[in-house]
Amino acid sequence: MDKKRVYYFGGKAADGKADMKNLLGGKGANLAEMCLLGLPVPAGLTITTECCTEYYENDCQLPAALMPEVWAAMEKVEEVMGLQYDDADNPLLVSCRSGARSSMPGMMDTVLNVGLSSKTIPGLIRKTGNPRFVYDSYRRLIMMYADVVMEKAEGLAPAEGKGIRKLLDEMLDEFKHAKGYKSDTEITADELLELANAFKAKVKEALGTEFPDDSKAQLEGGIKAVFKSWNGKKAIAYRRIEGIPDEWGTAVNVQAMVFGNMGDGSATGVAFTRNPATGENQFYGEWLINAQGEDVVAGIRTPSPLNDATKNEQNKHLASMQELMPATYQELDDIRLILEKNYRDMLDIEFTIQEGKLFMLQCRVGKRTGVAALTMALDMLHEGLISDKEAVMRLSPDQLDELLHPILDVNDEKKRTVIAKGLPAGPGGAVGKIALTSEKAMEYGKLHIDSILVREETNPEDVEGMRAAAGILTARGGMTSHAALVARGWGKCCIVGCEAVHINLEANEITIAGKTYKEGDTISLNGTKGWVYDVAIKMVDATENPRFQEFMTIVDKYRTMGVRTNADTPEDALNAINFGAEGIGLFRIEHMFYGQNSEEPLAKLRNMILANSTEERVEALKELEPFVREIAKGTLEVLDGRPLTFRLIDPPLHEFVPQTEDKQRELAKEKGLPYEEIKRRIDALHEVNPMMGLRGVRLGVVNPEITEMQFRALFEATAELMKEGKNPVLEIMVPLIISVAELKHQKAIADRVQAEVEAKFGLKINYLYGTMIEIPRATLVADKVAEVAQFFSFGTNDLTQMTFGFSRDDVNVIVNSYIDEKIIPADPFNILDQEGVGELVQIGTERGRKTNPSLKVGVCGEHGGNPSSVAFFYKTGFNYVSCSPFRVPIARLAAAQAAIRG
Ligand code: ADP
Ligand code: MG
Ligand code: MG
Repeated sequence: MDKKRVYYFGGKAADGKADMKNLLGGKGANLAEMCLLGLPVPAGLTITTECCTEYYENDCQLPAALMPEVWAAMEKVEEVMGLQYDDADNPLLVSCRSGARSSMPGMMDTVLNVGLSSKTIPGLIRKTGNPRFVYDSYRRLIMMYADVVMEKAEGLAPAEGKGIRKLLDEMLDEFKHAKGYKSDTEITADELLELANAFKAKVKEALGTEFPDDSKAQLEGGIKAVFKSWNGKKAIAYRRIEGIPDEWGTAVNVQAMVFGNMGDGSATGVAFTRNPATGENQFYGEWLINAQGEDVVAGIRTPSPLNDATKNEQNKHLASMQELMPATYQELDDIRLILEKNYRDMLDIEFTIQEGKLFMLQCRVGKRTGVAALTMALDMLHEGLISDKEAVMRLSPDQLDELLHPILDVNDEKKRTVIAKGLPAGPGGAVGKIALTSEKAMEYGKLHIDSILVREETNPEDVEGMRAAAGILTARGGMTSHAALVARGWGKCCIVGCEAVHINLEANEITIAGKTYKEGDTISLNGTKGWVYDVAIKMVDATENPRFQEFMTIVDKYRTMGVRTNADTPEDALNAINFGAEGIGLFRIEHMFYGQNSEEPLAKLRNMILANSTEERVEALKELEPFVREIAKGTLEVLDGRPLTFRLIDPPLHEFVPQTEDKQRELAKEKGLPYEEIKRRIDALHEVNPMMGLRGVRLGVVNPEITEMQFRALFEATAELMKEGKNPVLEIMVPLIISVAELKHQKAIADRVQAEVEAKFGLKINYLYGTMIEIPRATLVADKVAEVAQFFSFGTNDLTQMTFGFSRDDVNVIVNSYIDEKIIPADPFNILDQEGVGELVQIGTERGRKTNPSLKVGVCGEHGGNPSSVAFFYKTGFNYVSCSPFRVPIARLAAAQAAIRG
């Protein structure tokens, strides 16, 4: 038999179920599941995602066997619904809905009311006695069908603002304006018929083809158009951002229509089983009376609150479903509990009420902010709905990152005046320049300028600009509008429905309460409250969440790999320990020569660098040693029993001496030497390719007295602390090696100095001697290196640089083009290149452990805080990762999740 392409659902039966998302798409699988749960779902059928792939492979032709299979399933739909498709007396109408494996809100197309034609319209009017409803449905069909099937699917690309949907919308607006109507619901039946006819004429004029008057042709056209929408511009853009593969394809759901637009006893709505912004366990949603589904999401009318919990400043005067239809509300609330119990997660649902009868049209695991994800995970754990392992999996590392993200400084905020209020759709704070178009926001993004995208309402074409902006502000739309859904999914600061904002695109400006702001002016958003300010407000980090600690404790129960931090001062170290760091994986000694309090040690270092003889250099190093000892001692003390890996000085020395003439003259004066002499000595340090020059261990081989000073400082700091009864745990790491011989060379110095210090203090010092692995050669000879090294720390930044031959500091142009051209999947300095660099990491680890099975292995590059890279290090058998202090919680979560996934 040919493979099954069509899956039926309806009544309390279904061919599919929830775990068949890959084949049926999320929407189709969940519609089937809701049927199996006995919930009221209009019957329908799902065409598989495989069939979408077939369609594309087949030059955009439906497989010949498909339509007969569809019509066969339609017979079952007709039977369950007691209606007949394309029937003159008792017609069934359907929707054609897209639905991919993972949800892509609003990115693909759906057509409602398919099946209305001159043959079926009179029958439907006779049957319902409601011509207004029938013509309202008809004009909607024409609008959607012309847009989705006749224009987009045909690949027509009219100029901005000249699309058929827009033209018809304008006709509708003009019509309402001429009649003095405020709302669509005021238009009468006769007027709707008049509009529908005018629409059809416009469609013919603009697109050159007649709107099809044949129900069967409409259905086939609808199915094709949904397949086509998989490759629509906005769907492709969304997939790039979300990393959804092009090959997945979309399913098509053909579903019996139920009508929320049959009058005041009918309605449609969208809800979340818990509050998606805060995570509170309260039913949360919006609804519209006498409307069809898309009206709520499209932000055409301001939707009403579902219940008391959903009331806010903007909608509190509107009647809730809880008040107007208490019995139906109760039924919906019961369904909410059934769904949560079945899916064991927060869901986002769509429903329609047709003359008092409730129908479920969609459910899926709902997007949520990081804060909400945390709250829900812990609540559901306490409610016994999920296990603690599941709770750990419920928060993605990105969402945790969002929790650690900045909010507006409360104290600074208090001093300012709120200029407008809207709905708090996405959390946190954002400060940036006003961008009035998606393009402008992207332009700012490229220049690394923070922007706030300000729009009337966003639509799926805006996703890239929304991504680029620091925050989003819209004048219209509710908590379930497109902007709100998308921003929440990303955890991006967003305010919607801020009606005080008036946008004037021609003048490139907005007005709020009579005051005008130009594109490029700075504003601040408090996305948690929905408040807007016209000044730049200070930002702070939001780590003071008490539930954060509780969650991280559970996370650590499952984590087996260590997490350390990269820190160079006692303060950073303390900060990282508070974030849960178990030690320092990278302490860069040279950091004491930058920033605060660096003048004195830097002066000594320069004396050393510019010394004219070994004697002079040794003298200068003697003066430098106490500074190194002091900072080492302070940090070892703060770490109090946790390991601390010091890395010997790594950068090329020219970085520490002035390069401009002014500064060189100044230095000459300070040192009492002629400028020409200083210049000569500095010029002598010049290298054509310093990143591959005299740096790392090479410095210590060429000038062993530099290493000697560092060993002495570290050993003495340790000895002094031991004398004081403290608990220093010292590790010393040699950077940039290519051979075990370098390690031996430096170890001889270490051994001598160690013996001297031990004699001086009369004690024994224990420490680990290890190395950074950051040159490909070192990974290949790791078996020999491990004869001397007691630990390896992969320096994946340099290792990436050397493996790719990409210069870390100038690579952006190349990387961006390479990603666009799909030559590489991502920036390898951000996400570890597992295929190449990762292979070297594996080789180095294996070879090192062959010599020394208990070799400790870690990483101290940027990748130590990148979730997918952390998972890779876990699989490779690392003992720890080390990352910057703010990434520590993210690395802990990523490591725990990797361990749970196994
Ligand atoms: P999206 O994936 O963009 O949400 P949907 O396929 O869910 O698109 O449909 C858009 C809107 O139309 C939704 O509000 C949905 O509830 C409504 N809708 C879809 N099919 C039907 C139907 N058979 N009867 C009534 N409303 C429907
Ligand atoms: Mg939907
Ligand atoms: Mg390095």
